[in-house]
Amino acid sequence: MSLWQQYFQPKTLTETIDALANAPGLALPLAGGTDLLLDLEAGRHAPIHTLVDITSVRELLPLEIRGEELFIGAGVSVSSIITSDLVNTHASALVEACELIGGPQVRNAATLGGNVAHALPAADGTIALLALRAEAEIASSSGNRRTPFGDLFLGPGKSALKHGKELLVGFYLPLRKPGEGSCFNRIMRPQGVALPIVNVAIWLACKLDTIGQICIAVGPGGPTPWRAIEAEKVLLNQTLTEGSIAAALEALLAHAGFRTSPHRASVDYRRHLVGILLSDTLQAAWQRAS
Ligand SMILES: Cc1cc2nc3c(=O)[nH]c(=O)nc-3n(C[C@H](O)[C@H](O)[C@H](O)COP(=O)(O)OP(=O)(O)OC[C@H]3O[C@@H](n4cnc5c(N)ncnc54)[C@H](O)[C@@H]3O)c2cc1C
Repeated sequence: MSLWQQYFQPKTLTETIDALANAPGLALPLAGGTDLLLDLEAGRHAPIHTLVDITSVRELLPLEIRGEELFIGAGVSVSSIITSDLVNTHASALVEACELIGGPQVRNAATLGGNVAHALPAADGTIALLALRAEAEIASSSGNRRTPFGDLFLGPGKSALKHGKELLVGFYLPLRKPGEGSCFNRIMRPQGVALPIVNVAIWLACKLDTIGQICIAVGPGGPTPWRAIEAEKVLLNQTLTEGSIAAALEALLAHAGFRTSPHRASVDYRRHLVGILLSDTLQAAWQRAS
């Protein structure tokens, strides 16, 4: 059985939106295909009438400074992010997350937009973008708009993007200023595929010898990519000590919604590991910031 009926390869955003809107049945964008094609082949995805290959859409491919922000197109590959001087300078947590995604073949094909649009609560690039205070640009037939990153997700595997109507164009990240740093870490089963047992990304800004601002993202800390807001509050205006890290962990554990997953880990194991990751990631982000 054919897994799709029509295949388009547009070159512009307008052509892409038109192709999605005019399809007579279910139409979806196809980027690297490392999630979508595998799901289709394995029967985990309903058959698709029209696949719109977005790998040549020029508006999705820039990786550049725009004003006071770094713009990363949704179609930029995970490999290109790793080797980008701009991303290394302004968003080291994202580079570290991308370095851990799949193997070389997957990283060459996979895109950041696909990682986010798939809406898994522990997707590595997604967790890094959440901590880095990203905003997303979305295109539809009524024009382009920007939205806070956290608003893109409704539940595990459920994106808030309107199927066949909205397309992720890219992500805006604030440029790194002196006194700011970020870091990403994860723990994965050695034989594991695709998603970690737990991952943590942290961005922070120093204020003298204390933490002036902080964002902590944890996957899978809930049904959607999750920010540990209570742990952030505990750390604000504190110096980084064993005591403040322990208090932050207590706040994180009081609010995280870890679950047991048969292929990865039990709740208890996740709760144990997140403490180690939180401490390591905080200390690395702090060192980079100071
Ligand atoms: C062997 C293997 C290992 C992997 N390891 C990891 C890992 O370690 N960590 C991790 O996080 N992920 C991992 N993945 C998952 C996958 O590679 C990533 O999620 C990848 O970033 C998906 O991007 P893609 O371009 O291939 O998306 P696709 O498969 O092309 O698309 C995924 C979904 O997003 C939609 N989509 C794509 N682009 C857009 C857009 N611009 N706007 C709107 N919707 C869009 C598609 O319609 C589809 O629903 C792995 C996958 C494989 C096969």
